[in-house]
Amino acid sequence: MAVIGWIGLGHMGGPMSAHLVTAGHEVRGFDLDEAACLVAAERGVRVCESIAETVAGVDAVFTSLPRNEHVREVYAATAGVWATAPAGALLLDTSTVDVDTSRWCHAESAANGFRFVDAPISGGIAGAIRGSLTFMLGGDPDAVAAARPLVEPMAAHVFDLGGPTLGIASKLANNLMLFVSLLGVAEGAALAASLGLDPARFHEVASASSGDSWPLRTWYPAPGVVETSPANRNFDATFSAALAEKDLSFAVAAGEASGLHIPAAELALDQFRLLAAEGYADKDASLVAKYPPADGTV
Ligand code: NAD
Repeated sequence: MAVIGWIGLGHMGGPMSAHLVTAGHEVRGFDLDEAACLVAAERGVRVCESIAETVAGVDAVFTSLPRNEHVREVYAATAGVWATAPAGALLLDTSTVDVDTSRWCHAESAANGFRFVDAPISGGIAGAIRGSLTFMLGGDPDAVAAARPLVEPMAAHVFDLGGPTLGIASKLANNLMLFVSLLGVAEGAALAASLGLDPARFHEVASASSGDSWPLRTWYPAPGVVETSPANRNFDATFSAALAEKDLSFAVAAGEASGLHIPAAELALDQFRLLAAEGYADKDASLVAKYPPADGTV
């Protein structure tokens, strides 16, 4: 069994680290948020006061942090991971970052004597709680091979995508598909209702037709149709508009950097930006076509 440091005990990192405790690893955790630390402690994580204390003597360090800048800070700070973890430790970043940040993590980890794996995840908070996430691993073969048994207690699927940054590339391309598709589902649902169709009946039709998709089955934005839909819970976020905007902006930037024309992703990004700007950043991304129309009740 391994000694593992876990930095970022939020919606994803909290339940994920708990699966490693259950798997028999010694897990030390750190988060700036006191409430997150208390919950982690209840789940058997030994909560520490600093990054240095968290990573002292560990075999591996996981990070689950909100944005690029948090990941860069946690690795590169004077008392950050690179400065305080034992040389040779395996570093795994499960955060959704942009390709440049992931590339930088690989290069600087190697320069500081560490093995790094980009290890983004799909499956949402429910997948983190159930331990049924999809992991997309990118890195050198020996590092990815070492990462696999560590992520398995949290995963239903583990994919080795090949070299450095290919895990995050896969995550960004997947989420581009998800959010463009979600926008289509949200607009289709709004159009169907505005033309007089019963939402549940239309959902039945689309599910049995060529409109079928993961967001249709999981996030259909009319209340009372799909059990898992945030529409049933006032659009409280299962995946926030702010996170959708972040992921799409990274996908669009990656497309631009490789000279690719991806107008549907750009248009979807504009819609999530608008939703966030209108005050719905923390609401669920499935509110994107404002179905039901925002009337102050959401
Ligand atoms: P979150 O905000 O709930 O958790 C992040 C945690 O990091 C917070 O508890 C915060 O206090 C902590 N943190 C921030 N800076 C820190 C620092 N310097 N040191 C220690 N702790 C620090 O976010 P989340 O929903 O758990 O997402 C984490 C990552 O996983 C993000 O990159 C997100 O895009 C990605 N992700 C999220 C989902 C999802 O459904 N929520 C799904 C897939 C991927």
